[in-house]
Amino acid sequence: MVLDLRELIGESVKVLPFAEERSLAGEDAKEFSDDLLSGVLSASGRVENHAGCLTLEGELALDGEFRCARCCRSFRRVFRFPMSYRLAETLAGEDTEEFLLLEDGCLDLSEVVRCQLLLELPSRFLCREDCLGLCPVCGCDRNVTQCSCDLRERDPRWNVLQNFFDEED
Ligand SMILES: [Zn+2]
Ligand SMILES: [Zn+2]
Repeated sequence: MVLDLRELIGESVKVLPFAEERSLAGEDAKEFSDDLLSGVLSASGRVENHAGCLTLEGELALDGEFRCARCCRSFRRVFRFPMSYRLAETLAGEDTEEFLLLEDGCLDLSEVVRCQLLLELPSRFLCREDCLGLCPVCGCDRNVTQCSCDLRERDPRWNVLQNFFDEED
């Protein structure tokens, strides 16, 4: 979605609300993460003109189906990120980083949303903080099944003791 801000710049309106939504699946979802299976990406807010300064405030949300990095089960989660930008028609040197640049009075909102989501979305997802994951020995889902595999990492200090006993025999 491209926002045409020319009326706002010309001050015939002071506020321009926006809302866009698109569904993500397949390659579109993969762009953000291999573990994002599908989702709906939405952004809403407003652009305002305060005495010639254009600001964009809003929220972007991703309601998605994710694959857990530990147990591989899919689960649904909603991520929300606040959007806050300053917009400029032209850039003057040092301010380059802080402003979104308009092109002919228009802003490519979809691109802004895409870039922000790429920056803010975590690189891996857990179905819950304490997900126990899959057993590395038998492969069962340890959230569901309690297997009897020995998962303890042996403390290397025991080896010294073990050697001691081995020598005793
Ligand atoms: Zn999990
Ligand atoms: Zn096991």
